[in-house]
Amino acid sequence: MSMLDILSDKSLFRRQCLINGQWCDADDNSVLAVTNPANEEPLGTVPKCGAAETRRAVAAASAAFPAWSALTPLQRGAYLRAWEQAIKDNLEDLAKILTLEEGKPLAEARGEILQGASYFPWFAEECRRVCGDVTPSFRPGTQALTRHAPVGVAAAITPWNFPFSMLPRKAAPALAAGCTIVVKPAGRTPYSALALAELGMRVGIPAGVINVLTGDAAAIGGEIAVNPTVRKVSFTGSTEVGKQLAADCAPTLKRMSLELGGNAPFMVFDDADLDKALDLAMGSKFRNAGQTCICANRFLVQSGIHDRFVDGLAARVKALRVGNGLDPDTDMGPLINARAVERVDAMVRDAEAKGARLLVGGHRHALGGNFYEPTLLTGLKPDMRVFQGEIFGPVAAVMPFVTEEEAVALANDTSYGLASYVCTRDLARTWRLFGALQYGMVGVNDATLAAAETPFGGVKYSGLGREGSSEGLLEYMETHYMLLGGL
Ligand code: NAD
Repeated sequence: MSMLDILSDKSLFRRQCLINGQWCDADDNSVLAVTNPANEEPLGTVPKCGAAETRRAVAAASAAFPAWSALTPLQRGAYLRAWEQAIKDNLEDLAKILTLEEGKPLAEARGEILQGASYFPWFAEECRRVCGDVTPSFRPGTQALTRHAPVGVAAAITPWNFPFSMLPRKAAPALAAGCTIVVKPAGRTPYSALALAELGMRVGIPAGVINVLTGDAAAIGGEIAVNPTVRKVSFTGSTEVGKQLAADCAPTLKRMSLELGGNAPFMVFDDADLDKALDLAMGSKFRNAGQTCICANRFLVQSGIHDRFVDGLAARVKALRVGNGLDPDTDMGPLINARAVERVDAMVRDAEAKGARLLVGGHRHALGGNFYEPTLLTGLKPDMRVFQGEIFGPVAAVMPFVTEEEAVALANDTSYGLASYVCTRDLARTWRLFGALQYGMVGVNDATLAAAETPFGGVKYSGLGREGSSEGLLEYMETHYMLLGGL
C-alpha cells in the first residue's frame, strides 16, 4: 500500500528537505530510495543532500537565531504548544507514516507519537523557569550573578527505530531554550521527521528555526561536526557512530549529547510478582520487535523463580502475532531490513553453538522478508554474543543466578550503561541496587522509563548527557557568570 493511498492529508507526505522555510531538493537533484520494511515495496525518495546543503541549513539557522532567541519563553512556548496540538490533530496520518517506514504496529506508532508530542508542553513550561542565581558575595562591594543563555545553532541526528519521538525530544528543548536547529533523520525513516517539520511550518515557526536535511549521513554529519557555527550536537544512534562523531566534533569543541546503545539487564528476584514481571518482560523485550535501545537484553532470573518465569515467558512469546504493522491484529512487525535479520539470526546461532537451549522460535519467520520469529533462549552465558552486545531483535535470552551479588556482577559486566530493570518486592534491595547498578536508569517493577519529566540517558559507552527533565533543557544552554564590582 502506498503512502499516498492511505493518508487523509496527503501533504504530510513531504519528500523534500526543509532549509530556511523552503522545501528543496539536493543541489544535484540526487535522491535516496525509502522502502517499507514489511514488504520491501518502495515508499518514495528523499533528497540526497551533502555538505553544501548542510552549510546552507546551518547558515539559515544562524540567521534565524537572534530573533528566535529574543522571544520571551512564553512566546516560544506558544509555538511549541501549537506544534503539539497539530501533531495530535494529525495522529492517525502520522501513525501510518511511521508504521509504513519503520514497520512497528500502528498502536505502537500512536504511542510513540503521543509520547514524542509530550515533550513540547513540558519544555514550553520548563523554559519559563530557567532562572539564574545571585550567589552570596565572596568579596565586599561585589555581587556574583548567573544567567542561562541558549548555545546558538544546535544539530540533531536521529536513528531509524524511533523516527518520530527522537525528534521532539531534541527539538522541543532546543527551541524552548532559544536555539535554532538543523535535523538529520535516519535515511531509512525520513518521512516522520519531514511530516513533523511540515506541521511546524503550518503552525508558523519562523523560517530557519527548524531545518531538516536528508541524505549522505557521513557528508551531512561531517559538515555538522566541522562547522564552527554549530555549537551543540545531540546524537541518538549507535555507540560506534557516536564515538566517531565525538572525535569529529573535537576540533570545534561543541557541546554534545550522545544517546547511544544499551545492553539492559532485566533482573527477576524470587520475591517478585511473577505475572507482573512477565508482563513487563514482554513489553520491554518485544516492543518494536526488540529494536529499542532500552529493551531488556539479558534476563537474569533468580533460581527459585527461574523455571516458572521461563514457562510463563514461553507461553506469552508463542502467543505473539507477527505481521504487517498496518494490520490491527499484529503484535510484532518486521525488523528494519535484511541485514538486521541476518545479524539477529547469527547471534541466535552463536548462542546455540555455545550451549543455549532454543525454547521458542529462533529462525526467520514463515512470512519471509524481514520478519523474524519471536524467540526465547535459556542457558544464556557471558561468552555468548547475545550477552555481550545489543541484540536489537525479538530474542529473549534467560540465565539463572543465585545471589544478589552475583546478579549485580552479571548486570554490570558490559561496556554499556543505559537502562536496567529489577523485579522485586524487597524495598531494601531496590535501594541497594539503585546504588550498585552502573546504569543511567533503573526501572523497578516498571519498564516504561522515557517521559518528558525524567532524565533519560546512559553512562559508560551508552553516552553522555540527558534528555527530558530540566536537565534536558540545560543541555542547550550555557551558564554566564557576572561579577559585579564597585558596589
Ligand atoms: P546509527 O548510529 O547507524 O545511525 C544513527 C544516525 O546517525 C542516523 O541518522 C544515521 O544516518 C546517522 N549517521 C550515520 N553515520 C554518521 C556519521 N558518520 N556522521 C553523522 N551521522 C551519521 O544508529 P541506528 O542504526 O540508526 O540506530 C540504532 C542504534 O541507536 C542502536 O544502537 C540503539 O541502541 C541506538 N539508540 C539509542 C537511543 C538512546 O536514547 N540511547 C535511542 C534509540 C536508539
